[in-house]
Amino acid sequence: MNGGAWWSGGLYFSCLGCGRCCAESPGTVRFTPDEELAMANLLMVSASEFRARYVWRRYGKPSLRERANYDCVFLSPSARYCVVYGAHPAQCREFPFWPEVLSSKESWDRFALSCVGMNQGDFHDGAEISARLQRQLDAQKSSCQLRRDG
Ligand code: SF4
Repeated sequence: MNGGAWWSGGLYFSCLGCGRCCAESPGTVRFTPDEELAMANLLMVSASEFRARYVWRRYGKPSLRERANYDCVFLSPSARYCVVYGAHPAQCREFPFWPEVLSSKESWDRFALSCVGMNQGDFHDGAEISARLQRQLDAQKSSCQLRRDG
């Protein structure tokens, strides 16, 4: 599977922790019900409190809030680390192995202009990339829908 994909020979990537992918431009961060619960548990708040404080509607579905400067609500403003790291959603964990990034070499190179971790660091072979891409697609399919309480 994906043997003919342009990335099937593998890609280099290691996150350098700069935090830019969690900031700088508007975005959506989807999460599954299990991931929502894991983040709420980590923060020791109830699921409804989590929704009220940290979630808003983006394009008709729940997404993690952003601050006015587009930082993810969970990106520490000073230290630039993820405060829910360890319980962060698959969407964050699997970056940059997303469908839209892997759709073409041109797209990968475009994203690499703002991610210093791409095209350097650890080698990821085609089988791993395929598995990570699938995990991201599965997470997209089972991401939270809006409830009555939003
Ligand atoms: S932009 Fe790239 S290097 Fe920086 S935190 Fe995100 S994945 Fe890591």
